[in-house]
Amino acid sequence: IRGASSIAALTGAGISTESGIPDYRGPGGLWETRDLPTISDYLENIETRRSYWQRRLADYPGLAAREPNAGHRALMTLEERGILLAIITQNIDGLHQKAGNTPARVLELHGNVRELRCVDNGHIWTAEYVRDRLVAGEDDPRCEICGSILRTGTVLFGDPLPQQTLQAAVRVSQLCDVMLVVGSSLVVNPAARLPRIAREHGASLIVINRTPTPLDAEADVLIEGEAGPTLASIVTRLDAVRSEDQRL
Ligand code: NAD
Repeated sequence: IRGASSIAALTGAGISTESGIPDYRGPGGLWETRDLPTISDYLENIETRRSYWQRRLADYPGLAAREPNAGHRALMTLEERGILLAIITQNIDGLHQKAGNTPARVLELHGNVRELRCVDNGHIWTAEYVRDRLVAGEDDPRCEICGSILRTGTVLFGDPLPQQTLQAAVRVSQLCDVMLVVGSSLVVNPAARLPRIAREHGASLIVINRTPTPLDAEADVLIEGEAGPTLASIVTRLDAVRSEDQRL
C-alpha cells in the first residue's frame, strides 16, 4: 500500500457488521435467519411480494439509521489521499457513500436499497417514497406511471447482475495495483473471481477477514481480524510512513 497509487477495495457484508448490519454467511447471518425470495417467485406470487414489503417496512428504520464505521471511514481516507481507484462492493447498504466516498467510485455489484424500480419500464422511485405508501396501507405497491410491479433495487436470487457495473468492476480489477478484499466470504462469483483478475494483471492481493476464505492461499498478505480496527490502523501507519518518505 505504501507504494500504491490505485487501490481497489472489494468489500462484502463483513465491513458493515461493525455498523450493526448482520452479514450473510456468518453466525446468525441472513443466510440462516431469512428466507430470501427468488425473482420468479416474487414476480409470480402476490403473497411473496406482500410479505417482502412487510419485512422491508419493518427493516427500513433500522437500515436508514445505520452509520459508517471505522472501516468505511478508512476507505474514505484512502480516497482523500488520492490513492483509491474504486470500491467494488457486494453490499446494498450505501454506507460507503454515506462515509463520503464519491458515488462514481462505488460499484454496487448487488444494487442498493435506496432505489426501487418498476419491472416493466425501470421507472425509479426512492425507498422513502415507497415506504410512505406502505405506511399509508398499500401492500403490493405498483408503479404510478405504468402500473407494473415494483421491485427492490437489489439483486435477488435468479436476477442477472447489473452488466455495466460488472464490466466496470472487471476493469478496475485489471487496472489496480493493490486489491484490498475486506469482509467477504468470497464464495460467490463474480466477487470471488475479481481478486484473481487483479493478481493476473499484476496487483498485490490483501485479504482482511475474520474467518478463512478460499482465496487465502493466493493472498500476498492475509490478515485474520476485524475490518474496522485493521483498516484504521493501516491508514494510520500509511500516513506515518508517507510523511517519513516525504522527509527523506
Ligand atoms: P458473507 O456474509 O458471505 O461473508 C462475510 C464475511 O465477512 C465472512 O467471512 C465473515 O467471517 C466476515 N466478517 C464478518 N464481520 C467481519 C468483521 N467485522 N471484520 C472482518 N471480517 C468480518 O458476505 P458477502 O461475501 O458480502 O456475501 C453476502 C451477500 O449478502 C452479499 O452479496 C450482499 O449483497 C448481501 N448482504 C449485504 C449486506 C449489507 O449490505 N451490509 C448484509 C448482508 C448481506
